[in-house]
Amino acid sequence: MKQNIERKKVALTFDDGPSEKYTPILLEGLKKRGVRAAFFLVGENARENPKLVQQMIKDGHIVGNHTYTHVQLNGMTVEQAMKEITDTNDVLKKITGQQVVYIRPPFGAFDEELDEKCDMIQVLWNVDPLDWKCQNCSTVVKRVVENVQENDIILLHDIYASSVEAALNIIDVLKEQGYEFVTLDELLL
Ligand SMILES: [Zn+2]
Repeated sequence: MKQNIERKKVALTFDDGPSEKYTPILLEGLKKRGVRAAFFLVGENARENPKLVQQMIKDGHIVGNHTYTHVQLNGMTVEQAMKEITDTNDVLKKITGQQVVYIRPPFGAFDEELDEKCDMIQVLWNVDPLDWKCQNCSTVVKRVVENVQENDIILLHDIYASSVEAALNIIDVLKEQGYEFVTLDELLL
């Protein structure tokens, strides 16, 4: 059999942060492993933790929009939803100096009218270990490792100690299995 030297690509994404307590541990662990990821930030959390957002950019991670107050965008008027989105973009741009390209709507909820109005790239996910629900490191690792496939986008939340620990374990296990961690633009483009 011909040896396949091409590594299988996979992307890590983290929602709901930054967390003053857990995000620094994650950033440190990612840096140590030479892994870049994407962070979909809640605007009001970003505003409270601008240094962590700057660190993300400095470390080569992607910073995306996860609304200002973590709302379900299709449960409000388009005007209200657009305000949630633009307020977040404004705060992130102010902190990073960069235009935000990607959005992950909370609960994956978007609608057509909003999609037409909002010219950002919507990013969903392929692997969801429900880390927020179980908050158990080994369960999260197991669920991801057993379900992941090449070119998948993995969803985690860097606001739980268990998820941060799981993320770093997942990297170590999947690297052993021949996976390479890329930022999602490498998978989407
Ligand atoms: Zn979320």
